[in-house]
Amino acid sequence: MSAGGRVRFGVLGWPVAHSRSPAMFAALGVDYQRLPVPPELFAETVPALGAAGFAGANVTIPHKEAALALADHATPRARAIGAANTLTFVDGAIHADNTDAPGVIAALPGSVAGRTALVLGAGGSARAVIWALADEGADEVRIWNRTPERAQRLAAELGATAVTEAAAADVLVNCTAVGLDDPAATFEQLPISATALGSFRTVVDLVYRPEGTALLRAAQEHGCTIVDGLEVLVRQGALSYEIWTGRAPDLDRMRAAVRVL
Ligand code: NAP
Repeated sequence: MSAGGRVRFGVLGWPVAHSRSPAMFAALGVDYQRLPVPPELFAETVPALGAAGFAGANVTIPHKEAALALADHATPRARAIGAANTLTFVDGAIHADNTDAPGVIAALPGSVAGRTALVLGAGGSARAVIWALADEGADEVRIWNRTPERAQRLAAELGATAVTEAAAADVLVNCTAVGLDDPAATFEQLPISATALGSFRTVVDLVYRPEGTALLRAAQEHGCTIVDGLEVLVRQGALSYEIWTGRAPDLDRMRAAVRVL
C-alpha cells in the first residue's frame, strides 16, 4: 500500500453482503469494502476501480472467470485454473492472480506431496483445489461430483481421476455446497457415511457455518485432522494481502475477525 493518500481495497461479488472479507481486512487496518457488482456491469466497472482509488480487489462468485478474462496480466496459476480471485490495479493495468489454490495448501497441516486426495465437487472451488493438489505433487487426485460428467471433464483437463465412489485417501476436501443450507442432509448428499470418514487422515470443508459443519463434526469424532472453510478463507485472504502489500499479515487477527458471528 502506498504511504500517501487513501488506498482502498474491496471484494467484488453478486451478491456480496454475506462476505466476511471486509471484517477480515478491517482487522488488519485495511480500508476494504464490499463492491456489489452485477455480472452485466462487471466488465465496465472493474477497469474504473484503479482511477477511483482502489489498489486491489478480491473477486468472488460469480465473477472469478470474468476477472481473469479482463485482466491485462495474469499469473500462470490463474491461467491454469481459469479463474482469478485477486486483482491488483497498477498504472492503469489490471493484474490477476488466484490465491484460492495456494490458500487451501497453506491451510493443510502438512505436505500433500506423495499423498492421495479425494475432492468432492466439480465447480469453481474444486477446480482451484484440484489444480493446487496436483501442483503440490499429490500422488493421485480423485474427483467425485453429483453430476458425474462434470467430474469426468475436469479430471481429463487437470490430470485427475473421476470416481463414482468415495474410497479411502489421505486428504478429503469438500468443494460442494453440501452442508450449507441443509446440514441434516449432508450424508445423504455426499457419497460417504459419517463412519467411513475414519478412512481419511485430513478432512477439509470449504463450506463454513457459524456453528461448524456436520461433515467436520463427524470427521473430528472419527479421529481425522480437520480444516474448516474459515481457515481457508483466511489463508487465501492473507496471500492476497501479501500480493498487495509485500508483507505477511497477522493471521491470528484475521482468524479472530472472521470467527466473530
Ligand atoms: P459452484 O461452482 O457453484 O459448485 C457447486 C458444487 O456443489 C458442484 O460440484 C455441485 O454439483 C455441488 N452441489 C451443489 N449442491 C449439491 C447437492 N445438493 N448435492 C451434491 N452436490 C451438490 O460453487 P463453488 O464456488 O465451487 O463453491 C462451493 C462451496 O464452497 C460454496 O458453497 C461455498 O460455501 C464454499 N466456498 C468456500 C470458500 C472458502 O474460502 N472457504 C471459497 C469458495 C467456496 P453439480 O455439478 O452436480 O451441480
